[in-house]
Amino acid sequence: MTTNEDNSTQKEISTTQSTELYIKIADTQWPIIYTPEYNIGFLGLEKLHPFDAGKWGKVYEFLKEAKLIQEKTIVKPKEATQTDLLVVHTPQYLKDLKWSLNVAQITEVPPVALLPNFIVQRKVLRPFRYHTGGTILAGKLAMERGWAINIGGGFHHCHAEKGGGFCAYADITLSLKFLFERVEGVAKAMIIDLDAHQGNGHERDFMDDEKVYIMDVYNRGIYPQDGFAKRAIKRRVELQHYTEDHDYLELVERHLERALNEFTPDVVVYNAGTDILEGDPLGNLSITAQGIIDRDHLVFSKVRSRCIPILMHSRKPTQNAEDILCAHLGNLIYNQIKFPVYPGVEAKDYCHGDSSSSLDNSDSSSSSGNNSDIDSEPAPEYTTVPKCEPSPENTTVNK
Ligand SMILES: [Zn+2]
Repeated sequence: MTTNEDNSTQKEISTTQSTELYIKIADTQWPIIYTPEYNIGFLGLEKLHPFDAGKWGKVYEFLKEAKLIQEKTIVKPKEATQTDLLVVHTPQYLKDLKWSLNVAQITEVPPVALLPNFIVQRKVLRPFRYHTGGTILAGKLAMERGWAINIGGGFHHCHAEKGGGFCAYADITLSLKFLFERVEGVAKAMIIDLDAHQGNGHERDFMDDEKVYIMDVYNRGIYPQDGFAKRAIKRRVELQHYTEDHDYLELVERHLERALNEFTPDVVVYNAGTDILEGDPLGNLSITAQGIIDRDHLVFSKVRSRCIPILMHSRKPTQNAEDILCAHLGNLIYNQIKFPVYPGVEAKDYCHGDSSSSLDNSDSSSSSGNNSDIDSEPAPEYTTVPKCEPSPENTTVNK
């Protein structure tokens, strides 16, 4: 067991041993994590940031309608406690969150500064602590099941001492620290960060840490442009504004292959940001909905064909793009349930039917999530994941 003895002068000692986040799940449950507690909804505050924090519930409803998840198969995480958060965060940072002004800066929603802090804690930070609990739990489930998806989380701009860019807790760093300390067989990890923004939070946390290999593909012309954090990236791919599918997918595939050839992790954390989508007000890239589906499929296939467990977060919902998220998550879930070791190649649009043209997000309000073909299919049953053997083409490179 490791404790944070090195930093004990500035930091209360906190370890992962006392956590209650690592809950046991039933064999019939799927490693898909979500709770309604994720949703921020208070006086319309969630609408004041382009990252609409009320979106997760809509995505969940879409997936339920598409019969990809059910109330009884979903895993509901617990809220990360102060003790859990102290595994990574400094006491000073957690104290800073007791000032509404600081939370307003982190969430980029100025009116939050005017609210009493007990309301900010309950209505803004508490949902984030549930997301964080979900990401930490996803680590354990990925190791047990081979894969896990948190429908939320992925706060990649927050590090031990500072939040920013709508990220109040360093859930990615936390999930890995918990794995390193609590789960046998996890000594090395890879973070594949494919959100449109640079993941400077986990980069600062794992600076000079040889246990963690970071691959980051992001738009170089947008927030946060954190030059110091870039030094932690082992494989960096900087994109220009309006990069399109062909170039993007080719870059992701080539660099992912090289990353996995030069580093063999015990677990992969995949930050599957959807703000790469064309028209996203923050990402400034031009990836289509099908491009996102193809990207996720590519990552899961490459990682799982090497039998490496993968945990994914779905950051971050784009405005009016719940249907895109549903399609991207729906395909992954279907493939993982049906082909738990080697993801299949079927790419269906679970939210609209099989026509890829209907993935156009220009009118998401009309998307009901209903489709006659899908409706007539029974929800798949979760089956135990067979023992994973690396696919033949990877046995030579995966030492
Ligand atoms: Zn982003």
